[in-house]
Amino acid sequence: MKIIIIGNGLAGTLAAKALREDDKQAEIEIYAEEKYLYYPRPNLIEFVSGHLPHDRLFAFPERWYGQQRIDVRLATPVRRILPDARQIEILDDRRIAYDTLLLANGASSFIPPIRGADRKGVFSLRTLDNALDILDRLKDHPRAAVIGGGLLGLEVGRALRSRGAEVEVVEVFPYLLPRQLDPRGGAILKTEMEKSGIRVRLGVATEEILGDQEARGIRFKNGEEIAAGTVIIAAGVRPNLKLAQASGLPTDRGVLVNEYLETGKAGIYAAGDGIQFKGFVYGIIPASFEQARIAAANILGRKIKYEGTVLSNTLKVAGIHLTSIGQVNPDGSGFEELRFERPEEGIYKKVVLKDGAAVGAIWMGTKNGVNGITRAVTQKANIEKWKNDLFAETFDFSLL
Ligand SMILES: Cc1cc2nc3c(=O)[nH]c(=O)nc-3n(C[C@H](O)[C@H](O)[C@H](O)COP(=O)(O)OP(=O)(O)OC[C@H]3O[C@@H](n4cnc5c(N)ncnc54)[C@H](O)[C@@H]3O)c2cc1C
Repeated sequence: MKIIIIGNGLAGTLAAKALREDDKQAEIEIYAEEKYLYYPRPNLIEFVSGHLPHDRLFAFPERWYGQQRIDVRLATPVRRILPDARQIEILDDRRIAYDTLLLANGASSFIPPIRGADRKGVFSLRTLDNALDILDRLKDHPRAAVIGGGLLGLEVGRALRSRGAEVEVVEVFPYLLPRQLDPRGGAILKTEMEKSGIRVRLGVATEEILGDQEARGIRFKNGEEIAAGTVIIAAGVRPNLKLAQASGLPTDRGVLVNEYLETGKAGIYAAGDGIQFKGFVYGIIPASFEQARIAAANILGRKIKYEGTVLSNTLKVAGIHLTSIGQVNPDGSGFEELRFERPEEGIYKKVVLKDGAAVGAIWMGTKNGVNGITRAVTQKANIEKWKNDLFAETFDFSLL
């Protein structure tokens, strides 16, 4: 059996690994657009910050692919799939036959329609080439602006700061991480970011990246301007859909798959950041990881169902622990909000109650009690009588 995998990111590479573990005979070929072997993308943050050298970016050494008999064709993008003929088409119209195909071609950074976004000195961070270009630019343009105060924007800001750049993160919402935090939590996080020398500007929409050929700053819709010779746009990602669309695979926001991770065409499975499953486009590692494993099993005839991935709510953002679960910004009446903060230590805790039951929580700056409060919210535990004790570092959550 010949299995072709398109894309050598996490989903493609880990699917190949799982396939080989279960099937010693299959021919496995990976076609990759990038010219590098697989590297986990979070490593790019550590690489940009200077904490991880180039040779430690990669998950597996070159010899591993030989030992596993996984044939990776780097810098060889697939242009089209011909599902009826069971072939792919690469450069020079060359066609290669497969028995089963896994589409794992991922996602790309979303660039909003900002005037000047195509100027020299403007980047996003998705690939190793992006990271190398950013570092190259930073040498002569150490004043940087990051557009987007979400998780990736804050991480990029921290990485650039570690390199000694002057960094300003700009966010259109009035506080940082609006999906995970509330205004007070966002304010405490902002102070923590500022302690590490990163400026944060909130509630500003970018109108234009200024400059002639090259970026020299940003103008906001309110007319204010800031100087920056390096601009990073961190405004989310979008699945890569062109290949699927050119090949007649059904797509919506992502490539549509069923519970067996089959696309709309026989013999073609899909996994990773590029897919849409029951309305979800995940874009996170745990989802790609699970899908890669299940797709590999199904390619080998197992019939394992993908049930969706539980969203992990515990993160580390710019070095700060953060757990955010359930309704953190409740809408409507009948909710009670309890808060505890020690801003000088970057600690902020909040619990949202409805009729005495825990329905949401934010836990920032500490890991103590994270498991307990997560369980309480998941089980909607009644915490009415513990309201005054809940935030103590020593509180015993097993009482709930
Ligand atoms: C800097 C950074 C930090 C991150 N940190 C986290 C984190 O802390 N936690 C987390 O959960 N997630 C994180 N993510 C997201 C995570 O990296 C993705 O969920 C993961 O990479 C998805 O893997 P994938 O294989 O589905 O897609 P991708 O990583 O996008 O890989 C797809 C590959 O397919 C290739 N390709 C595309 N088209 C073609 C074609 N036509 N032919 C051949 N090859 C093609 C692409 O070049 C790419 O190499 C981070 C992302 C970035 C950029």
